[in-house]
Amino acid sequence: MSYLANPERYQSMEYRRCGNSGLQLPAISLGLWHNFGDTTLFDNSRNMLLRAFDLGITHFDLANNYGPPPGSAETNFGRVLQHDLLPYRDEMVISSKAGYTMWEGTYGDWGSKKYLVASLNQSLKRMGLDYVDVFYHHRPDPNTPLEETMGALDLIVRQGKALYVGLSNYPAETARQAIAILRDLGTPCLIHQPKYSMFERWVEGGLLDVLQEEGVGSIAFSPLAGGLLTDRYLHGIPEDSRAAHSQFLKPEAITEQKLGKIKQLNEMALARGQKLSQMALAWVLRGDRVTSVLIGASRISQIEDAVGMLENRHFSAEELSAIEKTLAS
Ligand code: NDP
Repeated sequence: MSYLANPERYQSMEYRRCGNSGLQLPAISLGLWHNFGDTTLFDNSRNMLLRAFDLGITHFDLANNYGPPPGSAETNFGRVLQHDLLPYRDEMVISSKAGYTMWEGTYGDWGSKKYLVASLNQSLKRMGLDYVDVFYHHRPDPNTPLEETMGALDLIVRQGKALYVGLSNYPAETARQAIAILRDLGTPCLIHQPKYSMFERWVEGGLLDVLQEEGVGSIAFSPLAGGLLTDRYLHGIPEDSRAAHSQFLKPEAITEQKLGKIKQLNEMALARGQKLSQMALAWVLRGDRVTSVLIGASRISQIEDAVGMLENRHFSAEELSAIEKTLAS
């Protein structure tokens, strides 16, 4: 049956301006790193994308290498786009990236102009798109001049293959330099995508300051620490969880000490009348220095949980200091 979007989809989502740009992003964006490749049920992936869109999530984050196998998340997203979402293309922000290993040989990795331009061409083909809304350099490349990598991003925008560009995983000072180069080229940096959660706070050591000073937006990836900051692991490791089957979250990461913190945080969330996952997302958005939280999901209910967070984004000073105390314990 053909898909018709929920007419109420813009009622409850919050849209936030991305840095000094004209673009607004939903407070919650959906990433396709896990659960959209060829090893998961296509129907589940499709249903999650459509539910997300119905809830006002207009921003979908991909990369050349998402799968497995690499490329398959873009291909599957392209299938849903062609079959269901194409009438809504202009209501969507679609992002992709290149920077990690994608194909064999020296031209399929890091940050050369050769790699970035070729990779985006491949991504567009897989998704069946003429352009992406945002194209990122996925990680800094210590062996390619920043001028070349930023020149490639500028070229891609001038070719009409991306509307905006972003950086991901760049440390504060390299980000500042890259932002300046892009500005000089006439293609301002829209956004930075760093890892940020209660358990991973490196961005507080300078990056968020740089982004604020430069008028660049930010989108926090893995805001739930891959699922740790939820009720998923309170009673062991479920068989269908990321920790049970992904190389990116090893059971060893769930130490007794960490679990103790998770349990305390869970109690605090319940006292606020919300789930731990919701409190963890609201916490990343506190202070309004982060434009959007970039979640992952393995099922529709997790996307619904995330959107439910918007009902209580406020923290009292006491709550914030209790969270700090727990995280430091
Ligand atoms: P999260 O920290 O949001 O973790 C998502 C996982 O948490 C889900 O797959 C699910 O795990 C679990 N989860 C989510 N909601 C709930 C809930 N309500 N209750 C219980 N468990 C829940 O983010 P990801 O690590 O998935 O990253 C999100 C996105 O960020 C990626 O898809 C990608 O787009 C981007 N990213 C970017 C990177 C970069 O280098 N730029 C690197 C990594 C990610 P389970 O499968 O166990 O159900």
